Amino acid sequence: MDIAKNISEIKQNLPEGVRLVAVSKTKPNEDILAAYEVGQRIFGENKVQDLVRKYEELPKDIEWHFIGHPQTNKVKYIAPFISLIHGTDSIKLLKTINKEGAKNNRKIKCLLQFHIAEESTKFGLSEQEAVELLSSDEFAQFENVEIAGVMGMATYTDDTNQIRNEFRSLKQIFTTLKNKFFAESDSFCEISMGMSGDYPLAIDEGSTLIRVGSHIFGERNY
Ligand SMILES: *Cc1c(COP(=O)(O)O)cnc(C)c1O
Repeated sequence: MDIAKNISEIKQNLPEGVRLVAVSKTKPNEDILAAYEVGQRIFGENKVQDLVRKYEELPKDIEWHFIGHPQTNKVKYIAPFISLIHGTDSIKLLKTINKEGAKNNRKIKCLLQFHIAEESTKFGLSEQEAVELLSSDEFAQFENVEIAGVMGMATYTDDTNQIRNEFRSLKQIFTTLKNKFFAESDSFCEISMGMSGDYPLAIDEGSTLIRVGSHIFGERNY
């Protein structure tokens, strides 16, 4: 894989207002540095242990994003430095993030993850669940989390119409929540959607953060 070339090609076609999260999970430091050298600064990981090690070993101006669901007992390891957690979908997890944010004297930015795909999974909220969460007294007490937007994953399918509709539904949820809870807040502004197989569609449908891994770094060997 020519990592530098892949990054440059993606970046050339990114409209204003859309940022690239280079998903470097399972990939070695050399690969991350190859992307860093052509100006990439946002990287996404989904294992706390790998993320902490890479944070320690790599340049400090990298903006690290956690793109999955951190286990609550591991949030403390990323709380000092994480820029954005993409996969929050429960009050319990937000409560832990809030607690660790307070210990580190910072507000931790999080995205609410929604279940927009047809595939069943235990992850992701419905719009109704999000409304309940955001209206709850418990949530109102959280001073060290900042909800910065929404995140979702489309169904893994060749049916581009279906993918488009799922992305559209996430954009719709974003707009509803924005109007209902965050009309006064500039910080609720992110729609994290689009991966290697579907990011051009996601951009068409209003993504602000695409999360691209294999298209940059090659297939992952787990
Ligand atoms: C792995 C992963 C990605 C990147 O997937 P690719 O298909 O390799 O681009 C994006 N988002 C999440 C949540 C992931 O876990």
